[in-house]
Amino acid sequence: MTAILHRDMHAPLPVAVGGEGPYIIDSTGKRYLDASGGAAVSCLGHSNAAVKAAMAEQAARLAYAHTGFFTTEPAEALARKLVDRAPAGFGAGRVMFLGSGSEAMEGALKLARQHHIERGEPNRHRLVAREMAYHGNTLGALSVGGHPARRKPYTPMLLPVERIPACYAYRLRRAGESEAEFGLRMANALERKLLEIGPESVAAFIAEPVSGATLGCVPPVPGYFARVREICDAHGVLLIADEVMCGMGRTGTLYAMEQEGVCPDIVTIAKGLGAGYQPIAAVVARESVVAPILAGSQTLWNGHTYMSHAVAAAGTLAVIETIEREDLLANVLAMGAVFKEMLAARFGNHPNVGDIRGRGLFIGLELVADRGTKTPFPAADRMAGRIKRTAQDNGLICYPASGCIDGVLGDHVMLAPPFDCDGALLEEIVDRLATTFGRCLA
Ligand code: PLP
Repeated sequence: MTAILHRDMHAPLPVAVGGEGPYIIDSTGKRYLDASGGAAVSCLGHSNAAVKAAMAEQAARLAYAHTGFFTTEPAEALARKLVDRAPAGFGAGRVMFLGSGSEAMEGALKLARQHHIERGEPNRHRLVAREMAYHGNTLGALSVGGHPARRKPYTPMLLPVERIPACYAYRLRRAGESEAEFGLRMANALERKLLEIGPESVAAFIAEPVSGATLGCVPPVPGYFARVREICDAHGVLLIADEVMCGMGRTGTLYAMEQEGVCPDIVTIAKGLGAGYQPIAAVVARESVVAPILAGSQTLWNGHTYMSHAVAAAGTLAVIETIEREDLLANVLAMGAVFKEMLAARFGNHPNVGDIRGRGLFIGLELVADRGTKTPFPAADRMAGRIKRTAQDNGLICYPASGCIDGVLGDHVMLAPPFDCDGALLEEIVDRLATTFGRCLA
């Protein structure tokens, strides 16, 4: 009997004992094609030799030194690389390393607050975020998240956060409305919200550049974030891009926001950053965010024991070096286009596939009971759960979730194959998904 508090305690889980490229192998020898990298984490598969060697070498030399006393070479080199690769306009930014995406979100919110206090605007404490966003599970991150079902049990314990709708074109774009008009309407909701609550009290606006787990890989329409940037600038509000899931190459550029031509003030990254080889996350802050702190207290008011862990930093440096050495971002873009075509060819006319969307190798399929009316499956069907179980039985790991419409209704499946995938692997994913859909859908 297990002593772990598993996420689902109904049935025992297979025991994962090995990894071979994109496959996970369990203790019975069964192989699972990991088409979602878990939750968009394992971007280099499960057996990357360069990353494992870098970690082993660092562990042999020095595993850990507390950041209150020391810095380390791999953490310094990793921070330098992340700042050098940051979107144009970042300047001499700085990085805070943490252990998870949720910790990074907490760190980002606190850094935004510290920035405003140190520049003499202590009244800025309010946060504005979007509906149907996921920013993590700690109480601060859950507060800015907008997924009603995940928030529900903790509601009395959460921070007050103001919310605007997400840029969710499949469901929110009106008939006859162009993409540009839709984007402007969605972005202008931010300005209306700021004016309603008093912009001088707002510290930050938080958004995922490409919405991940709750909406299922929804990219913004062109121009949306440019207008959001203008609004934030006009009102002195920091723009925090949560790239925990969509960042670090998943959409074809190291930072997802690059493709919007927008420089955020703070970016949070995790998941693909360490590619699953070590738990690591980061808050990457623009020079203008850090400047008042360097001119003021010169201290970071946020600390955790495992910040800048040396083995995690060494492994992560090897992840980014591998992506660069093997030109994997180009492969993400090329294979992303191939993947979308394959999915459209196989499921474009499927009666239960309402939308195929995403960017790079970050693709979502929204499932519906009726394509014409976009009617979702009844929540009682538990479609996402059925697809997850059926796929796994069939040797496929994908990432289905429910609630993309209102936190309860709406089902989608997320796919996030490794960056070094080829057409044959993508074909295998599509085949296994077709088998899964054949068993669960019409
Ligand atoms: N932000 C986004 C966009 C995420 O997708 C997630 C996790 O799924 C998080 C934050 C929280 O990350 P973690 O689960 O590592 O705490």
